[in-house]
Amino acid sequence: MKRFEGKTVVVTGGNKGIGLAVAERFAREGANIVVGAIETDCDKAAEQLKQHGGRAVAIVCDVTRKPDVVALYDAADLHFGGVDVSIQNAGIITIAKIEDLTEKDWDATIAVNTKGVFLCCQEAIVRMRKSGKGGRLINTASGQARDGFIFTPHYAASKFGVVGLTQSLAKEVAQENITVNAICPGIINTDMWDYNDRVWGKLLGDYRPGELMASWVENIPMKRAGTGEDVAGLVAFLASDDATYITGQTINVDGGLIMS
Ligand code: NDP
Repeated sequence: MKRFEGKTVVVTGGNKGIGLAVAERFAREGANIVVGAIETDCDKAAEQLKQHGGRAVAIVCDVTRKPDVVALYDAADLHFGGVDVSIQNAGIITIAKIEDLTEKDWDATIAVNTKGVFLCCQEAIVRMRKSGKGGRLINTASGQARDGFIFTPHYAASKFGVVGLTQSLAKEVAQENITVNAICPGIINTDMWDYNDRVWGKLLGDYRPGELMASWVENIPMKRAGTGEDVAGLVAFLASDDATYITGQTINVDGGLIMS
């Protein structure tokens, strides 16, 4: 019997990067997957997941819009009879000096990274409560929820916010067999880092593509960037029966980059 056989897992931003790696891990371990993403071709991700032997559906869902979020969890109910694990992974980043940081960037970042997590947690908890079966919520924060980096005050604020809401919700649902935890990936090699490397690299000095990331990786005790699979391992653990007594925690997955 596979570890997550019969369980249904919702993953926002599950069409690529960390979210897709997480969804693939659960698919390989037998779960039904509901992938939410704003790209209209997120069906491709669902097809890819089915190749791992699991059942998967894709729903176009902008996590900043309540009706989209409701539709995402409605799909979990309709196709698989409810949600057992909800992974709030969707996120965006922009990088700018304070004088160039627009209100639009501030609002969009908080809307996706913090409000989006709130809306999904709210919808998942309401449904988990109704089912009486409990469940697991895993919220993606960042190393920037530990230590704000330069030129990303809005992103750091959005991710510190994820930790606060995780702790508060964990206390509210602790006696209902629902756990709520946050994860802090460090430097994970995804499309997001192509942007980071280019824009931070330009603001911090005369870095050529790839050079900034390479220099930051030098500060990681394990001397390598992380992969989506590295993050998926932690997420799967937090969703598993080995983590029933863990809630309200924020756990780094970063090769030792931040040790607090
Ligand atoms: P990617 O840019 O590769 O993927 C981001 C995902 O979020 C995409 O699937 C994207 O969907 C989705 N998304 C963006 N906006 C919305 C929205 N409004 N509604 C729904 N989905 C949305 O990033 P990563 O995989 O690297 O990052 C995943 C998470 O991990 C993010 O929360 C990020 O902040 C966090 N993180 C990443 C780190 C890294 O080094 N990569 C480090 C620390 C944290 P679409 O493709 O349709 O736009």
